[in-house]
Amino acid sequence: MDCLFCSISTGKIPATVLYEDDDVIAFEDIMPAAPVHFLVIPKKHISTLNDLTEEDIPLMGKMHFVAKTIAKAKGVSESGFRTVMNCNQDGGQTVYHIHMHVLAERKLNWPPG
Ligand code: AMP
Ligand code: ZN
Repeated sequence: MDCLFCSISTGKIPATVLYEDDDVIAFEDIMPAAPVHFLVIPKKHISTLNDLTEEDIPLMGKMHFVAKTIAKAKGVSESGFRTVMNCNQDGGQTVYHIHMHVLAERKLNWPPG
């Protein structure tokens, strides 16, 4: 299957990798929307949040744990950060392999645009 984030997780396409284990990989976003902007993805291909199954529940927890661990390493835990997962067209999803955005180091607006 031709998937950009599967290619990054297998190393076929390079990325600035921040963390990797058997289940997840985290890397810098190529077009950062904030001074800190990285992505946490499962290595398993899941197209959208709609495709999650019950067996993926621990994986989603791990993605959050990795996000907060990297945020701490980058020194933004206390100032704060935002995690976002976009789903389908209205959610603004452009890459159809689920990914958690982690944004920090500027005041983020709420509600989002
Ligand atoms: P979304 O719009 O929620 O699907 O987010 C996709 C994100 O992937 C965007 O923030 C892009 O900047 C990012 N992105 C696209 N291609 C790459 C790449 N090759 N390496 C890192 N991030 C990427
Ligand atoms: Zn994929």
